[in-house]
Formats: sequence, C-alpha cells, structure tokens
Amino acid sequence: MSQENKKMPLRVRIAPSPTGFFHIGTARTALFNFLFARSQRGKFILRIEDTDKKRSDKRFEKDIIEGLDWLGLKRDEGPVVGGAYGPYRQSERGALYQKYLKQLLREGKAFYCFCGEHGKDTEEENTEETQKERHARQIHWCQDRDLSSTEAEARLQRGEPYIIRFKTPQHKIVKFYDLIRGEVKVNTDILGDFSLAKSRKEPLYNFAVVVDDYEMRISHVIRGEDHISNTPKQILLQEALGFYHPQYVHLPLILGPDKSKLSKRHNAVSLREYRRLGYLPEALVNFMALLGWNPGTDEEIFSLAQLVKIFSLKRVQSAGAVFNVNKLDWLNGYYLRKMPIEELTRAVSPYLKKIHISREKLREILIVSRDRLRKISDFPKITKFFFEEPSFDP
Ligand code: GLU
Repeated sequence: MSQENKKMPLRVRIAPSPTGFFHIGTARTALFNFLFARSQRGKFILRIEDTDKKRSDKRFEKDIIEGLDWLGLKRDEGPVVGGAYGPYRQSERGALYQKYLKQLLREGKAFYCFCGEHGKDTEEENTEETQKERHARQIHWCQDRDLSSTEAEARLQRGEPYIIRFKTPQHKIVKFYDLIRGEVKVNTDILGDFSLAKSRKEPLYNFAVVVDDYEMRISHVIRGEDHISNTPKQILLQEALGFYHPQYVHLPLILGPDKSKLSKRHNAVSLREYRRLGYLPEALVNFMALLGWNPGTDEEIFSLAQLVKIFSLKRVQSAGAVFNVNKLDWLNGYYLRKMPIEELTRAVSPYLKKIHISREKLREILIVSRDRLRKISDFPKITKFFFEEPSFDP
C-alpha cells in the first residue's frame, strides 16, 4: 500500500453490473462496505458498471437501487444522489477511459491486438465457474505485443478488427496485501496480455474499474473473493498509470449447504425474491452481516445501527460462509414477533390470496398465530384451519 493511500480519506464503493436482479451476494458486499464506511466516518459510494451494453439493463439498475433503499443502505454518492466525483455510471464516463487508454498506448504499455483471439475474453461474465474456465482459456501472450506503432496504425487504417491489450511484464511477482488474507503473490506468467478494451471507445472491466477507483479516490476496495484473480491485473494497471493502490479486502464466498458456491440450485439468489416471500429488511441485514463476520460473542440479534457500532473488518473470516436459510427464517420470525400488530396486519394483507376477512379478524388471528410465522408468505398455509372446514370421514 502506498503512503498516499494511508492518508486518504476513507471512501468505499460497490460497483454492481446491472446485468441481473440485485444478487444477495452483492447485497452482502454492499452491507459490509456500508458498515465499514459508517463505522469509520467514511463515504459509501454506488457506481453502476454498465460497460457491457448488451447485458446491462436500466431495469436491473433500478432493482439494485430499490434493494439498497429497502435495506436502509444509504449512499453518500451515486447515480441518484450525485456527488463530486460523478458521473456514477460507467456508460457516462467514456472520455476518462479514452484519456487513460491513449496514455497507455502512447507509452507502449498497451497495444492493439489483431490476432483474432478477440471473442473469447471481451465478453464479461461474473459467475465463478465461467470465470475460472475463461481464465484458463485466456492466458494469452499476444504475437502483436511488439508490433511497431506504424504497422498498427496501418492495420487500423485498413479497418482490421482489433482489441486493446495490456502489455503484461513477464516473470514478475505482483504482491498485494489483503486485509483479511494477508499477503497475496501472483506470478504475471499466469496473467498473459489481458484485454483492456474492445475498442478505443469500449473499455472492459479491469481497465474501467482501475480508472474509476482512482478517479473516485476510493481508499478501500471491498468485494467478493471471486474477484481476487482480477486484483493483480488491477495492481499492474495502477503501476502502469502511475496511480496509488487502494487497500484490498476480499470477502469470503457465500456457500450453499453442500459447500459449493451459492446458486439458484440452493436458494433464491436475488434480493427481490426474499422480499417477495415476506422477509423483512431488518432480518436480511442481520442475517447478511453474519455471513462471514461475527461479533466475537454469542449474540446474534443486531440492528443496522448496532452493527455500525460494532462492525470491524478484523472479525471477517476468510473461509466461505454457509447460507443457512433456517437461520434466516428464525431471524425473520424474531423480527415478525417484534413488529407492532397493526403494522404486521398491514404487511400480511397482500398475502391473503383468496381469503376474505375483515382487518379486525385478521388482527385476532395474527395475535394467536404470529409466533409460528417465519415469513409472511407462509401466513395462508399456517392459518389454513381458520378458514377451511376440516375434511374428515364422518
Ligand atoms: N462490476 C463488478 C461486479 O459486479 C465489480 C467488481 C468490483 O467490485 O471491482 O462484480
């Protein structure tokens, strides 16, 4: 970490790609960033990483922002609230990327690649499996890395398809210090000449993220462990561009009960699905905080405000965190029991389906049944006997 970084004001960001509904893993990353910022009087920033035009969708951006609001994770800067380091959507920051790409090309630290290996590593995908597979396929030392600028220019003039790659220094050890994992070392031989942009106007993730983290004066990059293989590339780019290095923190993966990475096979993965099932934001915040962090005591019930007071990165584990839906149900049950009865009655109403009863009656039923309620959508099921004649053989 450079000295400069140590003196920097604390600024953290989450940088979701709006290519799907707000993922529970991203929500956990957002929560940890938020808690770190709030507990250290820092700033919490939202940046929308929508460089992948084909897969990005405004609908998903909206879902992310609604999800953050629902959880109570207020941003200090972001696309809706604005801020001094905007714009906060990558699609609106094109001029900046062009400026730094030009610099790298001019200094011979990046080059035009015409070799046709393009398609493979210009699509962006964030799932772990495909990342790993792709990574293996992607180690590519490009034959065009030493092309003269005159030849490259001539081929560009002829309209040959190209991408822009980083001229990765060979046989070099890149080191960085992860606040949870300690020192991480990677040999550049496993990186290859990785891609920076599909064209002069179309930056790719590793390049855009480095420019933005620098331009937005991000002091700590706190993100999921699945990004750890990107960090050495980003460190190399920071060196090439003369930028400071932010402090890195890679949060443990969220695992399903079978210890493989959490996926749709195990449980719902989008926040909106939990919301739809009738989980409360208090329960999800409490539950997500315990996915990889612990307070060091046996206590398990925490409000967002309490978490801000006691959260520390020191108590974040490096081992994967198992997503135990029974625990979420238990916590949700707890928060449902704490809810004022009027509020609960209102919350249950949309889940009544074909049941027609007065608010007064509903209230009475809730008073006797709420202790068994785990999520609001269960209400019709656990109170069935109030509404249906039992069927029995006379
Ligand atoms: N856009 C990346 C993602 O959604 C951001 C990763 C990062 O935090 O650097 O995974």
